[in-house]
Amino acid sequence: MSEVEVLDNQELQSLKARIEALERELDEKRVAISALERANKQLEDKVRASEVTEGPASLTELEETLKRLVFRVAMILQAEKCVFMLFDKDNGELVASKPAFGLTDEEVKKFRVRATQGISGEVYRDQRPVILYDAVNDPRTVKENVGLLNIHNGVCVPLVIEKRDEDTNKVIETKPIGVLHVFNKRDGNVFIQEDVNLLTRLSKNAASVIASAAMYREVLEEKEELESIIESVYAGLLMVNKSGRIMQMNASARTMLGIQNGDVTSRLYEDVILQDRVKEILRSSLEESSEVAEEVSVRLPEDEDDEKIYQVQSALVRGDDQQVIGVVAIFNDITEIRSIERMKTAFVSTVSHELRTPLTSIKGFISTLLQDEDGSAFDHETVREFYTIIDTECDRLTRLISDLLNVSRIEAGRALDLNPKPVTLEPLIEKVVSVQRSYTNKHELVTDILDKLPVIVADEDKVDQILTNLTNNAIKYSPKGGEVRIRAELDGDLVRISVSDQGMGIPKEHLAKVFDRFHRIDNRDTREVGGTGIGLYLVKHLVEAHGGKIWVESEVGKGSSFIFELPKCPPQFAEEHEQLIAGSAGQGGSMQPGMPPAAMN
Ligand code: ADP
Repeated sequence: MSEVEVLDNQELQSLKARIEALERELDEKRVAISALERANKQLEDKVRASEVTEGPASLTELEETLKRLVFRVAMILQAEKCVFMLFDKDNGELVASKPAFGLTDEEVKKFRVRATQGISGEVYRDQRPVILYDAVNDPRTVKENVGLLNIHNGVCVPLVIEKRDEDTNKVIETKPIGVLHVFNKRDGNVFIQEDVNLLTRLSKNAASVIASAAMYREVLEEKEELESIIESVYAGLLMVNKSGRIMQMNASARTMLGIQNGDVTSRLYEDVILQDRVKEILRSSLEESSEVAEEVSVRLPEDEDDEKIYQVQSALVRGDDQQVIGVVAIFNDITEIRSIERMKTAFVSTVSHELRTPLTSIKGFISTLLQDEDGSAFDHETVREFYTIIDTECDRLTRLISDLLNVSRIEAGRALDLNPKPVTLEPLIEKVVSVQRSYTNKHELVTDILDKLPVIVADEDKVDQILTNLTNNAIKYSPKGGEVRIRAELDGDLVRISVSDQGMGIPKEHLAKVFDRFHRIDNRDTREVGGTGIGLYLVKHLVEAHGGKIWVESEVGKGSSFIFELPKCPPQFAEEHEQLIAGSAGQGGSMQPGMPPAAMN
């Protein structure tokens, strides 16, 4: 009775074969992920590599098969509607699933019952078919659903998958998965026992197709999820099979290795990867079944000057039988780490130099003074000049040591302590500028206070440090002299201060980095100038601790402007200093006496 076979054997077999292929694929992924776990903690529990052999049948193709199935069932049973419901173990419901015949998508979406409810629940629980003669008046039906689907009568049979013994073909295991409904016999007829028998026979075939389809969907979803995780992880990931073909290469790996041409899946890694060392790692892992971990320097074709350093780790991917089926390589960009290490080394030598210079000077002047046993060698004025130099050099040492302590404080994740007070900016700016002026006779230091500046809440010493540092840099990095202009203006609730020079300027590629710790520009111009590369790092932290921001504008050979903005009060002190803000608003420099004691953060 061939018309009764809803899906012929061949269709069923091919579906089963596809599902098996998918399951195998998934298994391979599972093996790959365990290799990944070892290779990179970062990808823990998340990544599985995939072996794409033959593309799986598309979901649409499967939907079509199922659609044909429900259509044929409805035709054979002479029913207006046919729909199947699957048991959802997460919420204990029987849920209608697409495709259905004679139901709109909206109706399918709404058609669900608890597995303890209604005719559907009864059929699912008892595993026995039911004929529904009068849906409206039958006490067992859920009236909401009867109304929703306009059901008059129907047949409902359980969907059960049977596992048979391969030799005897006897059923050895059954598993209920849901129910299959046909509703409303055509031409006003009702369903009879003969229909039940027919539908029961059809449901056997239907159950295995539906179960396979559900599993297929699940596997496909899991596969897509895995692929999107692999694609989006930060580390670069490359999986190559035993025959050297790329099975998976995520976006990070493509960027890291400078591969622009779209999909590289299934291509030979030797044709795709440009870097010899990377090829060598893959080759030796594959041929010698060895796992490699090493650092590789890579220059990308589009930016030959920029060298990247990757930590590359390869791990073998084994099949169920423990045979190597491929290799997975993980790339982590450690350029930044290495560059900080390099900078740290350079820093140690510059700091030693910076410490030694004032010490040598202090020692020199003190020895000179000591040699003059009777105090007759130098006049009073010269002796004072020596003491002033010693004093200045001691201050320089103190500043350097305090900078170093502050850097280690920031490194340890501790905020810089602020001692907030009302600060009148104009005299502070003038003071800093006059001190800096005394250090140079090549530069013209100009202040430009555009507005009447308000009293702000800030740590005066820290603002002094910011201004001193920027002005000192402006002088240091314009060795030929020129104008250094300190400009201050009010912009709404912000005070904006800029320190501009006409010095050597900063190359474009360094602009974003000058605020990084230990970052110094190393070229012919800067080599003459001493420094540690921590000044701007601290300045940035100090500005930000006040709730402000800082940036730089510069052109090589023309000069630089460091601009920072401070709010009238750092947000964290707003409460304690409300009165001050209110009192100083719009009043320019006036300051309220009797302020609350300084708060520490
Ligand atoms: P340093 O102790 O080296 O001066 P900073 O953190 O203050 O450290 O500055 C970092 C780097 O930024 C400097 O080494 C220098 O190359 C550059 N730089 C800072 N200020 C200026 C400026 N006004 N003009 C040009 N380059 C500057």
